[in-house]
Amino acid sequence: MSATHERDLRTGASLWAHGPGLGVPTRPLTQAISVDVVVVGAGISGAFMAHGLATEFSVAVLDRRPPLMGSTIASTALLQWEIDLPLVELSKKIGPANARRAYARSRSAVDHLMDIVRRERIPCGLRPSRTLYLAGDEHGCRALEAEANARAAMGLESAFVPAATLREDYGIDRTGAILSDGSARADPARLAAGLLRRAHDADARVFSPVEVLDAASDPDGVTLLTDVGHAVRAKHVVFCCGYEFPKGVPTPGAKVISTWALATRPRTPCPDWLRDMLVWEASDPYLYFRMARDGRLIVGGEDEDGPTAHASMPKLRAKTGRIARKLKALLPMVDFEIDHSWAGAFGESATGLPSIGPVPDMDHAFAVMGFGGNGITYSVIASEIVGAAIRGRVDPDADLYRP
Ligand SMILES: Cc1cc2nc3c(=O)[nH]c(=O)nc-3n(C[C@H](O)[C@H](O)[C@H](O)COP(=O)(O)OP(=O)(O)OC[C@H]3O[C@@H](n4cnc5c(N)ncnc54)[C@H](O)[C@@H]3O)c2cc1C
Repeated sequence: MSATHERDLRTGASLWAHGPGLGVPTRPLTQAISVDVVVVGAGISGAFMAHGLATEFSVAVLDRRPPLMGSTIASTALLQWEIDLPLVELSKKIGPANARRAYARSRSAVDHLMDIVRRERIPCGLRPSRTLYLAGDEHGCRALEAEANARAAMGLESAFVPAATLREDYGIDRTGAILSDGSARADPARLAAGLLRRAHDADARVFSPVEVLDAASDPDGVTLLTDVGHAVRAKHVVFCCGYEFPKGVPTPGAKVISTWALATRPRTPCPDWLRDMLVWEASDPYLYFRMARDGRLIVGGEDEDGPTAHASMPKLRAKTGRIARKLKALLPMVDFEIDHSWAGAFGESATGLPSIGPVPDMDHAFAVMGFGGNGITYSVIASEIVGAAIRGRVDPDADLYRP
């Protein structure tokens, strides 16, 4: 299944595809190789994985496309710790203690992401951000107040904002919201490219285009069959294939859907508070937006069932119009012109949690599937959990995400 179709209203390319900083050294696979760890997929998940392992292990990354060209290039990259399912709702599904662990783990993953980017000096426009979660048709002000209290009780930086304050401070007409600290935003393609370059500096090799057709494990490791006719032998394989699920990995409750996004022109005049804010709403489907470094507004939503709906041009036009109208209704004070619009495949799970862990019935194999609006936060968590397993350790939260 193709992961992503992006279209630019002007030129046909993705918002993140222009300018410097995207180069990743790649090579063709011209002979059989043997490494400690092979990572299948050179998107943001494969990039965090390769980066986390490359200083200790020999690592090869394989991708059937050029690096970053899966859902990573389409991402709007709100780097949030807030899971699609509120803490109160997640508690009902997986129990309060597990739900608190999932929220705490996402919170620390955003910090970890920021530490890595700063330490490695990756130029990707990373900025710490607050979030404003608006009452909507799924959860109203009472539910949001209870949610804010539940989060605050476990030490998360969330506070309820009543309707009057929301109107006065933000010019938004909703019955309430939750204001939270501790999230971030970045250019996802430059983030992934930077991680892959640092992994390359530590001797990881990125092979592209190479499609993995099959994998077989034995007591000592895994052998991958590729479309270029050369086998890849490894002690461990990690499938970071985005929404192109690898064979044999169960995905109960998960589905691939389609989602749409647009960007306004650079230097769109916006209220000051929006400069460091990620805004989303408790609706289904939900609208979300944030500013980019060049003063564009990046806006997304309109999710729809169907793994290929994102490929339809008439749908892209219709969804772009709907997103723009919803934005205008919410922020009537902002005048904007649309510059880009695009669409992509996106994964959802029943809990909003990802699937990370060993592939059943295949020794030495792990799979990473980051579902929900926090896909990139989950890429970080995956690199920690799988990294620990490859080092022979058990991450204390591994059970939360096991496929
Ligand atoms: C429009 C849109 C907006 C989004 N917004 C956000 C957001 O605001 N915040 C957020 O956290 N997340 C967001 N996401 C989700 C996020 O982008 C994804 O979770 C993330 O990009 C997944 O990265 P990945 O590396 O796992 O997958 P991908 O980037 O899809 O990479 C997988 C790679 O695997 C390769 N591959 C697959 N199968 C094979 C094979 N058999 N052999 C060789 N190579 C293979 C593919 O070619 C691809 O390059 C959004 C997604 C979309 C589409």
